[in-house]
Amino acid sequence: MAIRDWPYPLEWEKEETIDTDILVLGGGVAGCMAAIAAAKSGQRVLLVEKGATKMSGAGGSGCDHWESAATNPCSKVTPEELTHAMLNDNDGFNNGISHYIECREGYDRLLDIEKMGGKIRDTDDEFRGAAFRDEKTRLLFAYDYVNRYTLRVWGTTFKPAMYKELKRLGVRIIDRVMITSLLTLSGKQENRVIGATGINTRTGRFYIFRTRVSIMCMSRPSRIWLFSASLPGLCEFRPPQCVGDGHAMGWRAGAEFTMMEKSVGAEFSASGRSYPPYAAGNNHNTWYGASIIDSKGREIPYADRDGNILTGISDRFMPSPGQTFFLKGGSVDNPKYEYRGPETLPYPDMIAKGYKLPFYADLSGLPESERRVIWGMMVGEEGKTKIPVYQNYTKSGFDPEKHVIQCYGTGWTSAEFLPDERQLFGLPGGFLNDWNLSTNLEGLFTAGDSLYSSNCYGHAAATGHYAGRHAAEYAEGIKISEPRKNQVNNEKERVYGPIHNRPSDSIGWKELNMGISKIMKNYCGEIKHDELLKIGLKQLTDYEDSIVSETYAYNPHELVRLLEVFDILSVSRIILYACLSRKSSSKPLCFIKYNSPEISDTGSLITIRQTGNEIITRELHTDFYGDLKKNYEKYNKEYINEKNSIG
Ligand SMILES: Cc1cc2nc3c(=O)[nH]c(=O)nc-3n(C[C@H](O)[C@H](O)[C@H](O)COP(=O)(O)OP(=O)(O)OC[C@H]3O[C@@H](n4cnc5c(N)ncnc54)[C@H](O)[C@@H]3O)c2cc1C
Repeated sequence: MAIRDWPYPLEWEKEETIDTDILVLGGGVAGCMAAIAAAKSGQRVLLVEKGATKMSGAGGSGCDHWESAATNPCSKVTPEELTHAMLNDNDGFNNGISHYIECREGYDRLLDIEKMGGKIRDTDDEFRGAAFRDEKTRLLFAYDYVNRYTLRVWGTTFKPAMYKELKRLGVRIIDRVMITSLLTLSGKQENRVIGATGINTRTGRFYIFRTRVSIMCMSRPSRIWLFSASLPGLCEFRPPQCVGDGHAMGWRAGAEFTMMEKSVGAEFSASGRSYPPYAAGNNHNTWYGASIIDSKGREIPYADRDGNILTGISDRFMPSPGQTFFLKGGSVDNPKYEYRGPETLPYPDMIAKGYKLPFYADLSGLPESERRVIWGMMVGEEGKTKIPVYQNYTKSGFDPEKHVIQCYGTGWTSAEFLPDERQLFGLPGGFLNDWNLSTNLEGLFTAGDSLYSSNCYGHAAATGHYAGRHAAEYAEGIKISEPRKNQVNNEKERVYGPIHNRPSDSIGWKELNMGISKIMKNYCGEIKHDELLKIGLKQLTDYEDSIVSETYAYNPHELVRLLEVFDILSVSRIILYACLSRKSSSKPLCFIKYNSPEISDTGSLITIRQTGNEIITRELHTDFYGDLKKNYEKYNKEYINEKNSIG
């Protein structure tokens, strides 16, 4: 949109400085919970969000199942058993600290959300008598109906409830401001984080936030390999404004990351390549338990982990004979035998046996409560499904008792992707954390999908609350510091650079994003060749040195989109450095290095950070966090005492 038609007052370069005790960066699930926990310390809390906190982020539009609630009254697994299973299933390449927090405190957070007004149980008795319902607590469960540690929930009610709670607690919320950089003591990389800068996405005003402590909650990178200039809002599974800004500014400040070499072949994405998540036929996650049929109407059988064909629908929700519990959910792709749950027979086997494409998801033969809980509750409460899928399909006459929905790709992926089209999906890399959920930078804590090997709503809520508590404790002894003028001025120069360029001789954000995605597909695809990774790095460096200064933005909206792409460029570089640093293939990291054997050990994490222009890597044992229960109890005495005193 040309600037003369811009509907908001323009405030380019106008500066506003705001002081707070605790600064929360990003108002998604983790950010809201961090602010709520921090506010209880009595200190001033400021939450800054790029969108509108009430509905922003991956969890804003909903969530249909809450994973790993191991302490709910019906669970038959302990937090220790569940965390160890998640770690073991990934050969240790998982975040022991954050997932233990998720398993141990996730249910506490769900109860908090219920108190705030979120709906977590079947209070209307819609599913009375169903196999997945506990009649006493009215909680509903998904997947493993015996062990009952994943709950079906009404996630569309959650973020508005948290928003109300933030207001009630007096948290100051500044919406529609993109955080652009971290401020450090004396303006030096690796020094204590003393604040952040931001830009208003409507007016272009510049903000300087000064604080005692900051909590990074800006989720994970996206649009690295997958970008569609014609459908930019639908590029990936996660929301388009979550692109890894936090990773990029953390990198510039000297933060340490790990597992950044991990990416997976694209699974869920629109990007002009697929249907929106959960809009196509599948039997994964939200749709788990649905029958899959071929085009002649023959059902694809479900089998247990030993290949025994399951004849009853109820068997789809039971562990195999001899199995204690099974793992299923957003972070579980190809579980090991020990944790493998019931699944439809593999797609290639069915084709080989003469089953005819296309396949379809078919809910018509399910018991009425199972059909209604999938089509009605879960497709409806899941992120992004309420309007585009549930409402629109229903309006168009879709009847789950009569109609089926076509599958695309090889099962539940909603398209057939190419091997070099990759994504940070499932449990990707991110900020390295310690037992306080602090990063290596003093004064910077982190939570949710910003953390390495993070995923899911309950994980974000639990780690957010945990980081909020620990950050508030840290802040007590810290004074607010004045940022260095030159650090602020350099950032202003960087941020406003593009508005001074002429569109006729510069390029826009979409072109730059497309260029980066092309480089990543060409040089950092499924198989990593060192020679190609180095060319990719060189091309990205050329972009940084000569293209970034040649970009333009007509208005604050376009400027924010462009600043995001600059961050995508930085994140792509981190990924290339990390891929060069890992010398051999690793199955749990979905990492294939050309001509290198797979090292099948429990292995080491490679951590990576930048100091000056130097890239520093080190190896860290995957279980660096030590004994989970002992350490958790050592670091959380007050929380445990408080819980015990409430009973
Ligand atoms: C379609 C979909 C369905 C899902 N379904 C489920 C489910 O059923 N169960 C489940 O457990 N999990 C589910 N998830 C995952 C879950 O929603 C996420 O793991 C969780 O929301 C992560 O929380 P977060 O706070 O880390 O990130 P988010 O909730 O994404 O929040 C990040 C916030 O940071 C803001 N932000 C980003 N950059 C900046 C910046 N520069 N300045 C200021 N703010 C910024 C964003 O606007 C956003 O509000 C789903 C995700 C999606 C996308």
